[in-house]
Amino acid sequence: MIHVTFPDGSVRPFEPGTTGQAIAEGISKSLAKKAVAMALDGVLADLSDPITADARLEIVTRDDPRALELIRHDAAHVMAEAVQELFPGTQVTIGPVIENGFYYDFYRPEGPFTPEDLPKIEAKMREIIARDARFTKEVWTRDQAKDWFATKGEAFKIELVDAIPAGQDLKIYRQGQWLDLCRGPHMTSVGKIGNAFKLMKVAGAYWRGDSDREMLTRIYGTAWHTQEDLDAYLKMLEEAEKRDHRRLGREMDLFHFQEEGPGVVFWHGKGWTIFQELVAYMRRRLRGDYQEVNAPQVLDKSLWETSGHWGWYRENMFGVQSAGDEAEDKRLFALKPMNCPGHLQIFKHGLRSYRELPLRLAEFGVVHRYEASGAMHGLMRVRGFTQDDAHIFCTEEQMAAECHKINDLILSVYRDFGFDEVTVKLSTRPEKRVGSDALWDHAEEVMTKVLEEIAANSGGRIKTGINPGEGAFYGPKFEYTLRDAIGREWQCGTTQVDFNLPERFGAFYVDKDGEKKTPVMIHRAICGSMERFLGILIENYAGHFPLWLSPVQVVVTTITSEADDYAFKVYETLRKAGIRAEVDLRNEKINYKVREHSHAKVPLIFVCGKREAEENAVNVRRLGSQHPQATSLADALAMLAAETTPPDVARARAEAAAEAAE
Ligand SMILES: [Zn+2]
Ligand SMILES: [Zn+2]
Repeated sequence: MIHVTFPDGSVRPFEPGTTGQAIAEGISKSLAKKAVAMALDGVLADLSDPITADARLEIVTRDDPRALELIRHDAAHVMAEAVQELFPGTQVTIGPVIENGFYYDFYRPEGPFTPEDLPKIEAKMREIIARDARFTKEVWTRDQAKDWFATKGEAFKIELVDAIPAGQDLKIYRQGQWLDLCRGPHMTSVGKIGNAFKLMKVAGAYWRGDSDREMLTRIYGTAWHTQEDLDAYLKMLEEAEKRDHRRLGREMDLFHFQEEGPGVVFWHGKGWTIFQELVAYMRRRLRGDYQEVNAPQVLDKSLWETSGHWGWYRENMFGVQSAGDEAEDKRLFALKPMNCPGHLQIFKHGLRSYRELPLRLAEFGVVHRYEASGAMHGLMRVRGFTQDDAHIFCTEEQMAAECHKINDLILSVYRDFGFDEVTVKLSTRPEKRVGSDALWDHAEEVMTKVLEEIAANSGGRIKTGINPGEGAFYGPKFEYTLRDAIGREWQCGTTQVDFNLPERFGAFYVDKDGEKKTPVMIHRAICGSMERFLGILIENYAGHFPLWLSPVQVVVTTITSEADDYAFKVYETLRKAGIRAEVDLRNEKINYKVREHSHAKVPLIFVCGKREAEENAVNVRRLGSQHPQATSLADALAMLAAETTPPDVARARAEAAAEAAE
């Protein structure tokens, strides 16, 4: 007999080979009807799989969050069946689950699919789902599979069969007349997919990502538990489209990209103003705790060999050499892809004492990393970017306190930008790693405790979790993911504990007892890439930046040319008060001017007419508000002084005032 443990903790004996299906039926008819799969010791499996050893069993129903992956994968199979039914001669390749959906890559000799084909395929899918064929699994031999696919003319599948390592089972999933080579698992029948799915778009993709091979058509789909979930997702996409930072960047005149600089940003005046405000903000947050440093952009190859980058990371790096033919010095340099080796040189310069630790070095470091051209996406994925990077050199005893200090800073920064929902995940030791198990045990123990404290201290605001095996090869790390205004998640901050790099570079400090010791190095970034963080901010705010970040805070404009002198005086007063103001005295209709500045997302427009000039007042129009407000210039200045104060400055002032009053 085998022993099966149920979620309520009860343990029951069963004959070896009993299926999840049989157990579900034994529990209740209704459970068996709702069951779509099972989880054995937490791993999803077919409900019809025999259970051959003691295990923890969970019956997975369609409502289970884990079923979503199955719904999507099953939908990919059904899409492939639909395509082959509608377009005979089309070859199938692979069809995995991706974030929010699935895709399948097809080879079609007649030419690629077009968006016009999608409604037809979608309708066929609904037809197949209505037939509700069962998914059944068979294990085939290699020859059996190759023969089958050969008779069907499926050349790509034969290649896939050949790529499966010897000794590994070759699984075939059948649904009615159609079958596919697949690792599974799948739900019990295609009907379980439901109708909350939609085919989204087509794209080209090379077979195996190899540009020397066939060009395939990739059809993307999305699938959800319910129609409401699907509708919400489609609405989110629509909203994301409106907020696309590339579009807003153009409309607000913030930045551009061009062919000669793939993946590097041309910041225009307004975009650079926001960038610099962000840097200034981060600088204020570091004050007192960190030393800001600056390490060279271009460093000799040998340094990257010592750091290990040359060996493991070279394909992501840009090499640099003098360009002159006659140049005597033909040393090979690299543009830095990371700031860590530079900071280690600064740490190593001179003898370090334990008294100097923790030593926190920060840099707004510009790094370059090679990204494939297909991977680049506006500011979100670039080849050159600025990291708000820092490295903390500390003792092992100081590690936990430093992790907490970094965590407090990260959460406080995110909150200042309106990101209240944050997830912190601990990534633990990967299979390939350096350092002894004892070292990892210790670090993971310390960081697990820190994680528990983060959750407890946040009063439920911060969600936490573990990513098993996802740590860096040199140490465990925390990953910070924030949720934006339309519910999308962005992983930004990281805290990585490193036992490796200081040792590689021979960095040490002299401890109390006069012994040389290797410091722990903590890598941390809050925004991550500041370019990407700005992209996230643009989309999060939909271009409606808070006043302190707005590139242009006020435009002063006129209803009539009679008010020109007064408007110019108002503009000069604002400039004197440190406000980023512009003046628009064009002889255009006021509605036209307001519309234009609103389109550029200027948060405040001060309209001046004859009456305002006489009364030393302005008519304040706020972006997004229909109600202009007549205000004295003095009051408007006071309002601006308050609203243009960055949140950290306002907070520090309030704290100081409270202390003074004590
Ligand atoms: Zn599959
Ligand atoms: Zn680093």
